[in-house]
Amino acid sequence: MAKIYFRYSAMNAGKTTQLLQVKYNYEERGQKVLLLKPAIDNRCGAVKIKSRVGLESDAMIINQDTNLIGLVTDEEVNCILIDEAQFLSKEQVLQICRIVDDYNIPVIAYGLRTDFKGELFPGSEALLSFADSIEELKTICWCGKKATMNTRLVNGKPVYEGEQIQIGGNESYISLCRKHWREGKIRP
Ligand SMILES: [Zn+2]
Repeated sequence: MAKIYFRYSAMNAGKTTQLLQVKYNYEERGQKVLLLKPAIDNRCGAVKIKSRVGLESDAMIINQDTNLIGLVTDEEVNCILIDEAQFLSKEQVLQICRIVDDYNIPVIAYGLRTDFKGELFPGSEALLSFADSIEELKTICWCGKKATMNTRLVNGKPVYEGEQIQIGGNESYISLCRKHWREGKIRP
C-alpha cells in the first residue's frame, strides 16, 4: 500500500537535501521518480533544484492549474517527490490522495508548515489533514532550541505583516524558536 508522506520543517532544515537523497536512492534501484515543484507564479516547465550542500536535480514546475493525475497516467512513475509542497493547492493534495490510493504510487512531500505569521500554508494544511505519515525535520534557533517558526526579514528587521507569498521582494527568512520569533530577537 502506497502512502502520502509529509515531511515539514522551518526554513533551512535540509528538506531539499533530503529530498534529493531520496530521489538518488530510488534511481539507484532503477525506479522512475517524478520530482515536482509548485510555482508561486504562473511559470511552468523545467527547473533545477539545488540544495545548500550542493546536490542538484531537474524538476518539473507545476502551477495551481496543473492536474497531477495527468502526470501519472501519461507515463510510468514509481514515486513522486514534491519540493516546496506548502504551495500546492488543496485540490492538488486531493489529487495526491487519488494517486496514492488508486494508482498505488507513494508521494513524499517536503514543505514548510507555517508562514512568517505563524499561519498554515494551504498546501501544508491539506497535507496535515490527509497524509498517512507526518514527520518533522528539525533545525535549531541561534539559542540552540528547536526552530519551529519562520521569520521574514526586511532590511534585516523581522516583520509580521504582509502577504503570505511575496514575489520578487527583497525579503529574506530565518528560522527561530517560538520565543525568539515572538520577541523578534534574531541573534544573541
Ligand atoms: Zn531561540
